Amino acid sequence: MPNSVEKFPMDEDLSNSVLKELECPVCMEYMVSPITMCESGHNICNRCGPKVKKCATCRQPLLSTRNFTLENLAKTIKYPCRNRKTGCEEAFPLDQITHHQTVCLHRFYDCPLAKAPGNLCLWQGPRSEIKRHIDINHKLRVTEAIATLSVFIKAFNPTYKYCRVIYTLGEIFYQQFDVSADNFCFVVQYVGPEAEASRYKYQLTLKSPCGPEKIKVSQVTQGVKVSTDDIRQSGKCIKLPYDVVKNFLENDDLKFEMSISEV
Ligand SMILES: [Zn+2]
Ligand SMILES: [Zn+2]
Ligand SMILES: [Zn+2]
Ligand SMILES: [Zn+2]
Repeated sequence: MPNSVEKFPMDEDLSNSVLKELECPVCMEYMVSPITMCESGHNICNRCGPKVKKCATCRQPLLSTRNFTLENLAKTIKYPCRNRKTGCEEAFPLDQITHHQTVCLHRFYDCPLAKAPGNLCLWQGPRSEIKRHIDINHKLRVTEAIATLSVFIKAFNPTYKYCRVIYTLGEIFYQQFDVSADNFCFVVQYVGPEAEASRYKYQLTLKSPCGPEKIKVSQVTQGVKVSTDDIRQSGKCIKLPYDVVKNFLENDDLKFEMSISEV
């Protein structure tokens, strides 16, 4: 007699038919909890639900009623990663798939320059295609750096956000600096897996145009997924009182040196 608490491995066909049921009719991705339904009982995923007003299958209104039966079935199977089209072959149980997809090496990235105010780039793609996308669409916003970069900003405007992409060390970085709440904030973000962002640091050097004063500050890069505003608020960037930075302006021009290196 088999032990009654022993779990039977899920039959592969059954697993596949549950997966078929879990396909969202709108985005075609597998649904994770909460799965809600329309008046006639069609399911929709938790990402599309809030975006569409009517059921994609029958046009009936969507309800907040959850499909617990399907949610429970979902707990018994392994979900293939949604980045399978871009090469991920991994599959995880429901409680791990969402986390995996945020750290997955094959995940889709937004265009890094979509962070720049006024740049409505909607491109998304795998990491391997980011550089190509930038080179074709945003070439003027790219700086290629070998070592230290000397930057000269003619007539620095404290109400403007200066955003660029920097290619260095064989990697891509997003850089933004601006003045907000009387602070000069300088942020560099690593365009790659979040866990690897702490492998890099950036250094900013300001030198007085007419005296010996000098400020040299370093900070560890943050992942590109974090919003630049959140980084500024958490203080994980270079932040200097703008009153201090003003002393380094020559006329209105801002000059500084920066570098990105491995920690
Ligand atoms: Zn969906
Ligand atoms: Zn429906
Ligand atoms: Zn994956
Ligand atoms: Zn773009």
